[in-house]
Amino acid sequence: MTNARNLTNLSTMSNTEFYNEQKWCEQCKGYVRFLMSVNHSYCVDCGGRVRLFNRDDDTRFADTVQRHKWQAS
Ligand SMILES: [Zn+2]
Repeated sequence: MTNARNLTNLSTMSNTEFYNEQKWCEQCKGYVRFLMSVNHSYCVDCGGRVRLFNRDDDTRFADTVQRHKWQAS
């Protein structure tokens, strides 16, 4: 149930904006509105799983984290 815990943390972090946000749908190749379930979010258009970032954003995010780790050590 680690996924559920992560989602809970996310929603508490940005409580008011969370449901207005859009997520990346791999199938629609774009940011879409989504439905929340306990463990995952689903695209309202195609019903596929959606993610918080697309791949480019993911890479950029990981890059930032790496750099922070680098400076910390
Ligand atoms: Zn979709």
